[in-house]
Amino acid sequence: MKTVYVDNNATTKVDGDVLKEMMPCFTDIYGNPSSMHHKGAESGDVLKLARKRVASILNAQPDELIFTSCGSESNNTAIRSALRMNPGKNHIVTTMVEHPAVKTLCESLEKEGYQTTFVPVDSKGRLDLDKLYASLSDDTAIVSVMWANNETGTIFPIREIAKKVKERGILFHTDAVQAVGKIPVDVTDIPFDMLSLSGHKLHAPKGVGALYLRNKTRFSPFLIGGHQEHGKRGGTENLASIVGLGRACELALAHMNDENTRVKKLRDKLETRLTAKIPKSFINGDQEHRLPNTTSISFEFIEGEAILLMMNEDGICASSGSACTSGSLEPSHVLRAMGVPFTAAHGTIRFSLCRYNTEDEVDYIIEKLPPVIQKLRDMSPFWKEN
Ligand code: PLP
Repeated sequence: MKTVYVDNNATTKVDGDVLKEMMPCFTDIYGNPSSMHHKGAESGDVLKLARKRVASILNAQPDELIFTSCGSESNNTAIRSALRMNPGKNHIVTTMVEHPAVKTLCESLEKEGYQTTFVPVDSKGRLDLDKLYASLSDDTAIVSVMWANNETGTIFPIREIAKKVKERGILFHTDAVQAVGKIPVDVTDIPFDMLSLSGHKLHAPKGVGALYLRNKTRFSPFLIGGHQEHGKRGGTENLASIVGLGRACELALAHMNDENTRVKKLRDKLETRLTAKIPKSFINGDQEHRLPNTTSISFEFIEGEAILLMMNEDGICASSGSACTSGSLEPSHVLRAMGVPFTAAHGTIRFSLCRYNTEDEVDYIIEKLPPVIQKLRDMSPFWKEN
């Protein structure tokens, strides 16, 4: 069956070059990087190179990186470390539209006695900055604001937020899992204390991520064990995947221009044509400040899950809202926070492209989707009523 994969915010295919660099780590470069012998040293060398390559995509120093198992671990590590290092402070500031790796953690921390401000967004998904700044207090231990939203692609004004938060002397963390690899990131330009990234969103394998920790930031490890990662994360390093992440970061940098020109043009064509062809459809999120690969489109009066299943019969792989929340019939918390009407939130599809997508694939979706929507609407009592 033909496959058109446009679900790259959920996960990406491992780049062939990435896999090629990883393979020797299973068969040849298998020593434990902490071992004294030459096999250990060999692994230590490739680990060092990978750290340098990941640092490059952030313009960071290699020793400012902690390798983790995923973006969720990086987020958990950052927030829990801030709370441990500020025992007198009880308040967290985040947003209503964070990925569950931050949102659910904060909800769980509330049960442990912490207080969280979830800053709202407007109908375009733009953050209420006045509310954010007004919520900061001497009791605030950390502000954690995502850089780019995984569902709508909306990019928050992270430089301005980071500067304001740092003026108050509060720790600032950003979940940059969807930003890294898609838009330029420079930690010398924006005063983050911590930043999370994840390998499988940028053509590295699943099971590897990183936390950027600015030098001299007070830190408490999440995974306690051996002295790996300069004592900041216990556990023998997942060498092959870390090597893969290093190469993937190099490739993402090399393809950044393509992502922001050709891929963006494909995304624009897809959403413009679909919303022109299909009545009662609209794009969600801030169209001006948006990831170049992402579009979230609502098709009113039908179910996103039904659209996904029918698209899948044509080989098209997309997502309804966040992949992590699929399996639940609740409309996504992001669309609810934006006030998207229930009848539209339910019929929302996220298309997220990548450098492997072609114009033919986009044309294929533009051809296949309108009849799918029409067929489902013909069966929908809500559509007939409206
Ligand atoms: N943060 C954002 C914005 C995401 O989109 C995701 C994954 O979808 C995560 C965090 C979690 O990353 P991981 O799957 O590596 O744990």
